Formats: sequence, C-alpha cells, structure tokens
Amino acid sequence: MSKNIMDSLTSLCKRRGFIFQSSEIYGGLNGCWDYGPLGALMKKNLKEAWWSENITERDDTVGMDCSIIMHPNVWVASGHVGNFNDPMVECRSCNARFRADHLTSENCPTCGNQDFTDVKNFNLMFETQVGASQDASSTAYLRPETAQGIFVNFNNVVTTSRLKLPMGIGQIGKSFRNEINPRNFVFRVREFEQMELEFFCHPDEADKWFEYWVEKRFAWYKNYGITSDKLRLREHGGNELAHYAKGCYDVEYEFPFGFQELEGIAHRSDFDLTQHINQSGKSLQYFDEEKKERYTPFVIESSAGVDRSFLTFLADAFDDSDPKHVILRLHPKIAPIKVGIFPLTKKDGLPEMAMEIKNQLSKYFEVTYEQTGSIGKRYYRQDEIGTPFCLTVDYDTKEKGTVTIRHRDSGEQEVINKDQVLTYFLEKI
Ligand code: ATP
Repeated sequence: MSKNIMDSLTSLCKRRGFIFQSSEIYGGLNGCWDYGPLGALMKKNLKEAWWSENITERDDTVGMDCSIIMHPNVWVASGHVGNFNDPMVECRSCNARFRADHLTSENCPTCGNQDFTDVKNFNLMFETQVGASQDASSTAYLRPETAQGIFVNFNNVVTTSRLKLPMGIGQIGKSFRNEINPRNFVFRVREFEQMELEFFCHPDEADKWFEYWVEKRFAWYKNYGITSDKLRLREHGGNELAHYAKGCYDVEYEFPFGFQELEGIAHRSDFDLTQHINQSGKSLQYFDEEKKERYTPFVIESSAGVDRSFLTFLADAFDDSDPKHVILRLHPKIAPIKVGIFPLTKKDGLPEMAMEIKNQLSKYFEVTYEQTGSIGKRYYRQDEIGTPFCLTVDYDTKEKGTVTIRHRDSGEQEVINKDQVLTYFLEKI
C-alpha cells in the first residue's frame, strides 16, 4: 500500500460521506474531524463489535459511561498533571512547533531552516474552567483517557453490580489530547474516542490475565477481517515501560506510513487504585468474602482507539486494483450498509415490491434503496462504500417470487425466494 493510498482514502471518505474536515466552511480545524452519514454508521458498528465481545457476551464484565470533565485531583493522582507531556521544539525562524521525537531530519519541515529551540515539555491536556469564576480553583481538564472514570468508580461498581473479582469494567467515550502535530488523517487527532477495558484481579492471577487479554485483543482485529500479515504485537522494551508497569504490548498495524499503534494492553499492577487511594483518602480495596482476604486489585488494561481502528478497517478493506471499480472489502458487521435494494426498473410495480422488502429489512439492520441508473452502476456505488450484498427485484419476483442476491467480494449472484430474504441476511450478517 503506497502513501498516496491515504490521499485516495481521504478523498473517498469525503466524496461518499464517511469523514469531513471539522468546520470545513471556516477553513477547518486541525486535528478535528466530523463523521458523516456513512462514517457515523461504520463507527457505531465498530464500537458495537467491541462492546458485544467485551461486555455483552461476557459474564465477568460490565460497562460504564463516565463524565468527560472530572475532579482535577483525578489527574493529579493519575500522574497526568505532572507527566502527560510530549517533548516539543519550536523553529526560531518560522515559529512552527513540532514533537521532537517525531522529527526525521535536522531541518524544519515547514521552512527548512535548522534553528530550533531546546526541547521543552508540553502537557497534552486541554484545560478549561468550570463555573462562573475563573481562578486556579476552577481549572479542570477534558479527560485525556476514559480509564480514570473507571478507577474512581471501582467501589461503586463492585457494590452495585454484585460481580466478584476477577472482573472488568469497560467504557467507550471521547478523549481529548492537545497533540502538537495532529496528522495522518484520523490517526492522530485532538478529539477522539477510546474503547477501554480495565480488568481487576488478584495480584497472583495478574500475569495469567495479562497473557489472556493480549491474545484476546489481538484476535479481535483478525476476527473482523483485518489482514493478519499487517498486524503485529510489539512488546515494550524495559526503557519504554512506566516504573509501575509489569508489561505492555501494542497491537500495531502496517499503515501506508509504517507500523503504528492501534491499541495498548498493559499490566498496570495496583498503581492506579493505589494512587487514588492515596489522593482521595478513600479505600478502593476489595474484600474477598470467601477467602476473607482484603487487597488492592491489580489491573490489566486494554486501551484501543476508535478512530485509529476506523482508519485501519478502511485502509485494510480498500481495494483499488481496478481504479474504475473501487471496492471496500469490509466485514459485514463493520460495513455501514448491509444490503443495497434495487428494483430493476422504475415501473410495473417493481419499486413497490422492492420498497416492501426494504421496509422489512430496515427494522433489523441498515439497508439502502436505489432505483436510478443501470444495475451495474448501482452495484459499483455500493461496492465503493463496502455494502456486502445487493438485492435486485425483477420480473421474476413478480412471476416466481424470487429475488437476486449479488455478493460484493466474489461478484457471484444467487436467486432465492423473497420470503427467505430476512432469514438469509440475518444469518449472513
Ligand atoms: P501515541 O504514542 O501514538 O501517541 P499513546 O501510547 O499515547 O499513543 P495511549 O495513551 O496508549 O496512546 O492510548 C490508547 C489508544 O488511544 C491508542 O492506542 C490509540 O488507539 C488511541 N489514541 C491515543 N491518542 C490518540 C490520538 N491523538 N488520536 C487518535 N487516537 C489516539
């Protein structure tokens, strides 16, 4: 996949309504993007795929939805106020600012000069003021990760959910980081969504659960069709690990701009809960009724980015081997629209019959109806947005009660009875 695939993807996203530049009519806002009608659907599917595997289908996890603005002491305890910094340099000639560890040459990428300031620490948290007065005591932050909402609610969830350890708490939600150089489309942005699971367990079992979650989370991407050869697990070396962390793996994908992190899975020991115990003075320990043992649980965290996954699914599915016929080979669960429904012609009652099928299916999943243009053109339009199936209502539908299903990936067609349509698609999707 070459770098200009990114240009083709960006233009497909704009042309077909997946992603637009934020505030485009005002010239855009760097690091912020808007998901259009198809993008919003696909993002929802992606989040559902995560939620369903990590929360719905499990007996040992529950979900949460915490506030974005939290008590400022949360971020003191978590270490973000003190340490959530990236190294920054400024070009003295043109005043552009860069992440020092991302610079690939000694020349300024903007003006070409070689006159940089010393490296400074730049804190990535967005600050805001809460309430009408504007002094130091009203300073608050937009959360840079969703995890802290889970840690501070550990007791609330344990006492209300009646789950026993080991157990996990998951959350999907917006996070904000004032990145020095947002780049690579939605890969590095300032406002994004995360899907995080904090799995709490007894310290003696933490190594076992760490191994389990690394494997499980890596498999998730493959299960939804991401090319195995482009995925890899990278273990953090000793100097990359935080002092409290017992281990960390990144799931990485080979983007046109190289292998990059999609998700981190970390063995965080009892660091987070202990920090909040010390900062708040409240106990966040767990009491095991059976063993009569009280302890601070260890945590295995998996932290994935929705937007980075979105880009991965898009880039991996993008097939322009025939530039006149672009196909997005998305997994049916991730594809924004599942079935394109077409009457062969606009007359003889075919549109009415097609509409009837559309109304039946749209109660269960996203479908689209189109009656203009040749059938071939309508197929191609759906291929370009990743719709896995098309259904055509023709004169046989009237006479024999059959419809034609066309498969996106193989181009194959099959004829089925129109009464079987719903069961057929429910099975496939
Ligand atoms: P990076 O080193 O790329 O800045 P990170 O190691 O700081 O990432 P984490 O703090 O581990 O990232 O965040 C967990 C996940 O959240 C990442 O794997 C990524 O998918 C997502 N994420 C983090 N920062 C961004 C961002 N600026 N834009 C989009 N997604 C992000």
